[in-house]
Amino acid sequence: MTDETTPEHLSAGLYIVATPIGNLGDITMRAVDVLKRCDAVACEDTRVTGKLLKHLGISKPLWRYNDHTDASERNRLLDRLQDNAIVLVSDAGTPLISDPGYRLVQDAKAANIAVTSIPGACAAITGLTLSGLPNDRFLFAGFLPNKEQARIRALNEAAGMAATCIFYETGPRLVKSLRAIKDILPGRTVSVARELTKLHEECRTGSASELAEHYSDHPPKGEIVLMVGPPVEPEASDLDVDALLLEALRDQKASQAAGGVAKATGLDRKLLYARALELRSQ
Ligand code: SAM
Repeated sequence: MTDETTPEHLSAGLYIVATPIGNLGDITMRAVDVLKRCDAVACEDTRVTGKLLKHLGISKPLWRYNDHTDASERNRLLDRLQDNAIVLVSDAGTPLISDPGYRLVQDAKAANIAVTSIPGACAAITGLTLSGLPNDRFLFAGFLPNKEQARIRALNEAAGMAATCIFYETGPRLVKSLRAIKDILPGRTVSVARELTKLHEECRTGSASELAEHYSDHPPKGEIVLMVGPPVEPEASDLDVDALLLEALRDQKASQAAGGVAKATGLDRKLLYARALELRSQ
């Protein structure tokens, strides 16, 4: 907000500005103010940012920037930051979060250039708050890798975290990822948040197999945040453990089911194997 104590022009430096992830009403008053008073805007795609600025009635020079821009261009931008107030935005949400900006911020700080972050929308945080999953500890793990081995590695890493894990995902890959979660992280509660802040926003929470079934029947459109809840506490009741084993036994051998549930709960694998054999024979 500009008031009589706020100078007309911003002091030189880099201003990281979050923009909406769908609903344009989510731009903050401070973001609008900084965009109005800056000298130029560095952005991923000048057409996308041009549309946002037009909607806000703001006209500024737009410079294309991504972290893969060659070092000489980044150095030119760093030179300009010495005496210009430059805003960094991405196409949507918070810059740097699975978006360009990390190298620029790192270099700007190394060059003693002032860096300010103007917070706002971020799909990971919006999805987490909507999911109903525990949020006291969470890990943001970016996009789940597309290649199968890398995806399995990423999920195995997540298996060791006593925290909700948040991934960015795309519609065409969602079902494959949910099936991998079912195998690698059995028994976890999973949440899929889609089209956040937009007209068709939805957030479904359930088991990975339920969600895989749902989304293979209803191929998902739009942008997705995929979240995996933390492992079930070891003191889970026998009934919970039986339910986990029974779900895993639907399509796994007793040894695999016991291994998965042991990983998910921290309970003894041999005891779980014995119980899995009992349940299978019932
Ligand atoms: N920096 C952005 C942020 O703060 O959310 C994320 C950029 S990343 C390139 C884009 C990914 O974020 C999408 O593929 C999707 O996984 C997630 N995403 C962005 N907007 C979303 C939305 N409205 N609903 C659900 N997921 C979204």
